[in-house]
Amino acid sequence: MGELAGKVALVTGAASGIGKAIAQAFHQAGARVVIADLDGDAAEAVAGEIDGGRGDAMGVAMDVADEEAVNQGFDEVASRWGAVDILVSNAGIQVIAPLVDLEFAAWKKMLAIHLDGAFLTSRAAMRQMIAAGKGGSILLMGSAHSHVASKFKAPYVTAKHGLLGLARTIAKEGAAQGIRANVLCPGFVRTPLVEKQIPEQAKELGISESEVIANVMLRDTVDAEFTTLDDIARVAVFMAAFPTNALTGQSLLASHGWVMD
Ligand code: NAD
Repeated sequence: MGELAGKVALVTGAASGIGKAIAQAFHQAGARVVIADLDGDAAEAVAGEIDGGRGDAMGVAMDVADEEAVNQGFDEVASRWGAVDILVSNAGIQVIAPLVDLEFAAWKKMLAIHLDGAFLTSRAAMRQMIAAGKGGSILLMGSAHSHVASKFKAPYVTAKHGLLGLARTIAKEGAAQGIRANVLCPGFVRTPLVEKQIPEQAKELGISESEVIANVMLRDTVDAEFTTLDDIARVAVFMAAFPTNALTGQSLLASHGWVMD
């Protein structure tokens, strides 16, 4: 029996990158997993890849910034499998631009996906957890940028810092019902989100792509190495499975020592 046997876990943004790796690890640990993503077809495909058609992974189309879509997605899961036990609020995008050039629409879109998305999915998960009376675990996908800033990432840094406040509040409000909330803070992981920003950063900074990797992304790590999908999936299983309120309202950094807080 895996550490997450009998649990229902919903992971947003799980059709790609970190979310997909976490969903795979949760499934291996025994959970039934919901792949919730803006791209519903990709979510279905990943669910099939994970469970090989056995029916213990499901794809759900969900825009995390859309209140109705979030509530509908959670209802769909509840009618099939009952209340979720674990939420990983992971969906996210990146925009690289100097603050003075940043469009207001881009700022609002970033905060909508990262902060509205975390709020809406946490609220839906908490409502189900409270109604089912069995508590649960909420993991918000933060970043090293929950603790430090970098140039050209104003809305991302702002949103990722904001998640710390949300997790701490959920930890206080959810404790009586056995609901825990924590933030997982990775360093750079080579996903599509990061591959896209390497040339964008090179352009903004006027340096080569290899210099972006060596001098921007990995400069302050202890070993000049990227964090891996496997690293983050392992930490996510540990945090999701942790059985008591000893671990709530916390953020855990997995960044090769880039940030030591
Ligand atoms: P990714 O681009 O590989 O995957 C992101 C997924 O989110 C995609 O499947 C996309 O379709 C989905 N998505 C985007 N907008 C959505 C929306 N409105 N509703 C639902 N789904 C949506 O990116 P990733 O690198 O795996 O990033 C996942 C999370 O990890 C993000 O929150 C990101 O900020 C965070 N993170 C990434 C890194 C890194 O280095 N890759 C580091 C720290 C934190």
